[in-house]
Amino acid sequence: MKSVPPSETDAAAVLPPLVDPFGRTVSYLRVSVTDRCDLRCVYCMAEDMSFLPKAEVLTLEELDRLCTAFVRLGTRRLRLTGGEPLVRRDVMRLIHALGRHVKSGDLDELTLTTNGTMLFKHAQGLAEAGVRRINVSLDTLDPHKFQAITRWGKLDKVMGGIQAAKDAGLQIKINCVALKGVNDDEIHRMVAWCGEQGFDLTFIEVMPMGEIGDSARLDQYWPLTMLRAELQTRWTLEDSDHRTGGPARYVRVAETGQRVGFITPLTHNFCESCNRVRLTCTGTLYMCLGQEDAADLRTPLRKSDDDGLLIDAVRDAIRRKPKGHDFIIDRRNHGPAVPRHMSVTGG
Ligand code: SAM
Ligand code: SF4
Repeated sequence: MKSVPPSETDAAAVLPPLVDPFGRTVSYLRVSVTDRCDLRCVYCMAEDMSFLPKAEVLTLEELDRLCTAFVRLGTRRLRLTGGEPLVRRDVMRLIHALGRHVKSGDLDELTLTTNGTMLFKHAQGLAEAGVRRINVSLDTLDPHKFQAITRWGKLDKVMGGIQAAKDAGLQIKINCVALKGVNDDEIHRMVAWCGEQGFDLTFIEVMPMGEIGDSARLDQYWPLTMLRAELQTRWTLEDSDHRTGGPARYVRVAETGQRVGFITPLTHNFCESCNRVRLTCTGTLYMCLGQEDAADLRTPLRKSDDDGLLIDAVRDAIRRKPKGHDFIIDRRNHGPAVPRHMSVTGG
């Protein structure tokens, strides 16, 4: 495999860190490497999505250069996401190239969020590139429900991929979106299965992002306060101060020894400790998942081989990082809070 060559600026000096107007240091970058996906989860995408023309998408070399600039600016964690990151052509070249920052100690972690469909092919390569843990999104253990949620996915393939990732020595965290009337009857089974497999599990509240056709969000939304109360009827949830650098708050399940996390953008806003920004595959930087303001990094990236303009543009953007999002879902507010889909900026 021909890897992405190291960026010209690799050897350049480390720069002062990125600090936003609220004193939060930005040290976590999520990169959506493609807006495309091989599934169409009902809460994430409409069935007939139009995707970006390939010409608008940054090359793997450009993505590497952008990520490397962020590493120089103090990024310690890098998460690749999408769309489905593993469907991007040659994405393993990028992942192998970015692994050099883990090996040099400049990055604490290189990881990805995946739907698992391509793990059977790439799990070993991920481990070799320096990825140590991954998040796999899995909302159900029932093949029929899986097909209904993803519109056409095959659970077997994902399970095979999860096994391949386990065999490759990757730590796995399962992400499960809580969907009222869909997987609310499966949460105990999910906790038990993750316990047996040695996986942590994070439940996520459905967020009002992008038009999703006729599946109404109000129908899907199941507050995690209710999910947690249901879990407590069967499991002993012990407080835990475990943090992974992301927004989840964790408990430890005494019976399984594994952790269960809760991502609760609606019932408990976690913005005060936000340390992250999100980059799309066109080089647009979103300073908040739930706000529209964004900065174009593709223009300064392409204008000059030197990173000066790019770094100025990143610093300008961080100066505009908002205090938080305004997500709300209730009877009067069940349309999208932001028009873009989660797959544009990644989860
Ligand atoms: N395709 C990959 C996957 O599914 O893991 C990565 C991208 S996906 C957008 C990232 C995460 O966002 C997944 O865990 C998915 O379940 C979650 N997600 C997508 N749309 C969401 C929404 N509207 N509300 C809450 N979570 C959402
Ligand atoms: Fe694809 Fe992930 Fe969105 Fe599902 S949640 S449609 S797998 S991007």
